[in-house]
Amino acid sequence: MIARRAYGIVRAASLFAALAAVSAYAPAALHALKPQDAVFLAGALAAAIALGILRAPAAHFERSLRPTPESDRVGLIVPVLLAVLVTEGWLWAAVCNVAAYLVRRRGQRRRPLQDRILNAALRFPAWWAAALLLEPLRRAAQATPSAASLATFVGLAAAFVLLVDLVWIDSLAAARQSRSLLMLWRRHAADRGTLLIVLAECTWAYVIVRVATHDGSALGVATLLPLVGLAVVLGRFARVNARLHRLAISREAVDAMLRANDPMPQMRSLLESIDPHIVREAVEIAAFGRGGTERWSRVVRFGPAVTPELERLGGRALLELQVTGEDAAIEQREDGSVWAYRARDAGERLRGALLVFRAPGALPFVAARDFERAASELGPLLGDYGAIAATRTAATIDTLTGLANRRGLQRAFEEAMAHVRGGGGYAVLLLDVDHFKSINDLLGHQTGDRALAQIGRLISDNIRGLDLAGRFGGEEFLVLLRDAARERALQVAERLRAAIEAGGLAYADGKPVTVSVGVAYAAAADTTADVVERADRALYRAKNAGRNRVVESPVETV
Ligand code: GH3
Ligand code: MG
Ligand code: MG
Repeated sequence: MIARRAYGIVRAASLFAALAAVSAYAPAALHALKPQDAVFLAGALAAAIALGILRAPAAHFERSLRPTPESDRVGLIVPVLLAVLVTEGWLWAAVCNVAAYLVRRRGQRRRPLQDRILNAALRFPAWWAAALLLEPLRRAAQATPSAASLATFVGLAAAFVLLVDLVWIDSLAAARQSRSLLMLWRRHAADRGTLLIVLAECTWAYVIVRVATHDGSALGVATLLPLVGLAVVLGRFARVNARLHRLAISREAVDAMLRANDPMPQMRSLLESIDPHIVREAVEIAAFGRGGTERWSRVVRFGPAVTPELERLGGRALLELQVTGEDAAIEQREDGSVWAYRARDAGERLRGALLVFRAPGALPFVAARDFERAASELGPLLGDYGAIAATRTAATIDTLTGLANRRGLQRAFEEAMAHVRGGGGYAVLLLDVDHFKSINDLLGHQTGDRALAQIGRLISDNIRGLDLAGRFGGEEFLVLLRDAARERALQVAERLRAAIEAGGLAYADGKPVTVSVGVAYAAAADTTADVVERADRALYRAKNAGRNRVVESPVETV
């Protein structure tokens, strides 16, 4: 909290210092600008802006815990800025840096302008400090080219770049994310590639300075072009990489979900990999538009319990996200606050949201930026989850009756058998409509279908939530009764038989439509087919005994 406040103060002070510096030095700097300087400066400014827009993910330390291909990294701009520093002075280098930071392509993720201005101002103090290095750098650049002068230039420039990164930028990052600076440094120490990149950048800066001062500003500008070209290529690689990354996440998600209906472990590991503290916060993942409806549904929740007041605030925040199209919605009242971050899929559709609940005075563990990132990574996952949930449902539901179909039944039946092997019980009812062929033949197939739909409704109205009914075949239904002892199984079977008889359906001769029911009990050694076979034999006996009755399979085999 204190660190974040310090960060805010430093930002404001930097902005103030930047404005003061610009008003103090700009007139003199503008005045000292010679025409060939102006040409090079214009070229450098254009290149800096282009590199800012391209945002090649090439340079310098990754400062977040979980690097992704989309991490905020402006690459390849260091040579341009160093060259401007040496040829035109620190103020112009700072101007180029700020311009590169402020300009963003349309459609790119943008922070609010005020935020960007404050962040850009943070670049100023570093360039102001660079003024100290200016003379030695210039001397090294102007000396006759030799290994020694190159080494001096590159050494000084690299030391400056690394110092700014490690001392200035890292301290700010640590303060903003409330993290330990030492931890950031430990991560950087493991990052060998960065040093090589910095050395290469500084070497290229040397080339730019030499060419710009000895061969004219036009050629100097030409030496900036390879950087822009490289940024385009790297940007393309990064996009491919990002797509592969998303694909990998989605594939993991799909695998996990096909193995288990429960998306929770997948969501949890995704969140934890972004910041291990996230699951200690009161956070919730909500999905949007599952099953094609414009509705929110809760997927999982982590962390401490949430009061009903906060729950209501959460509902409001979700609605606001949905209505305004903003990336985040915040609801704040005296009984707490809720942040909602939008999760979109690859097609930019709203797929869900990450909600963060905070009671008044609750300690925040995780920086807002990480929630934003978590939400953006959840988007595709929620999209896949929604699609899978929809096809799963579609694949296991019988469209005529709305009950489970044969496939859904099979899956539920296998779970039931696992329950039985674990010591639980299941009774199975097999229902077959009596003389159904005569309904079809005398009243038509459509009436037959309507009768089946009605019987399906009657069955599901007469069983408990833990029990499951499905359409087993043409006019046969199977009901799985969880933990039903013999007595209750027979009771339910009789209730179903009676409900259908009294259900208002009639044959051509006006008599009520009836069913026959076979009852069997699952034993641990059974396969699903064994149980169905016993139920079927019982059903056959019910038919033979005159139909419209319940018969149970011999119990001594249990
Ligand atoms: P029983 O009392 O012996 O069961 O006589 P039944 O006429 O019901 O005999 P059976 O079980 O052999 O007949 C099943 C009939 O159900 C045959 C088939 O035409 C019809 N059927 C199966 N599926 C459907 C369906 O989806 N819609 C309609 N309308 N009829 C179906
Ligand atoms: Mg039949
Ligand atoms: Mg029948």
